[in-house]
Amino acid sequence: MKYIFGPVPSRRLGWSLGLDILPYKTCSFDCIYCELGPTTCRTIDPIGLIEPGAVLAELESFLAAHPEKIDFLTISGSGEPTLHPELGSLIRELKRHYTLPVALITNASLFFRPQVLEQVRAADLIIPSLDAVDPETLAAVNRPHPDLDHKSLLEGLLALGRLKGPRLWLEILLIKGLNDHPDQIDRFKQLSAAINPEKIQINTVVRPPVESWALPLETTRLAQIREQLGPQAEIIARPDRQSDRTIRWEDEIIKLVSRRPCTAEDLAQLTGWPPDETLALLQRLIAGGKITAAPFNQEMYYRCRTLDT
Ligand code: SF4
Repeated sequence: MKYIFGPVPSRRLGWSLGLDILPYKTCSFDCIYCELGPTTCRTIDPIGLIEPGAVLAELESFLAAHPEKIDFLTISGSGEPTLHPELGSLIRELKRHYTLPVALITNASLFFRPQVLEQVRAADLIIPSLDAVDPETLAAVNRPHPDLDHKSLLEGLLALGRLKGPRLWLEILLIKGLNDHPDQIDRFKQLSAAINPEKIQINTVVRPPVESWALPLETTRLAQIREQLGPQAEIIARPDRQSDRTIRWEDEIIKLVSRRPCTAEDLAQLTGWPPDETLALLQRLIAGGKITAAPFNQEMYYRCRTLDT
């Protein structure tokens, strides 16, 4: 599978089957906390290298072979999906062929363009990010393409908030000392009220970031911020640990950790294997040079980039 990954236990979408529609790693941002690695193609120009028809064909064969429960088809993956010029037709085709809801995870940088807004209209759920309440923080945290500015980003988010159709959950990813000052949280609250999402999802750095100095907030501080942001706000929880799901083992683990770093606990849940067997498998994969391991935030993360480079 080149364009389909998972299903993975998403912290907010349940069992999410990912659709990756951009080459690694194509994005309008180069966020300091990105778990995918540095942006190798930072652009705001449309990139249509992957044919929607190829994604749909792969999805069809995947679903035919894997009847397990899926909660969302999620367009995300190796960069910013709104850069794809045929995103709209892909979403419409997904809706035409399947009853599964379609979610889009986006950095929201391009919604100031009316044609990009139009492309996402058919999605069931859009999860845009807002990490910066001012231009300085945008530059420090998201490191956008030089032709993007904070004003356009906010205009795009406000326009997205007015779009009829998709549900909207706004994600705010907080990094210690960079965008978590109480004044910044107040401003997040004002901006969120103007955008008017159904939910505000508070996140922090939970997987190894591009920059090792991008640090997570403590649980107690996240809880304070949730209070400050009001009843729509929630801290994105870890996925349910009580899964009896069994899916496709060694190859699947390599594929999953090539997309994003995972802990042994994440992978034990995915495979349905006991943790000690999962650890033994991970050790074999490390010994065989197929994956690597590195500590972050008191947890060990396993990763592999060989499929993407
Ligand atoms: S917008 Fe997403 S994919 Fe792009 S650099 Fe930021 S975290 Fe990574």
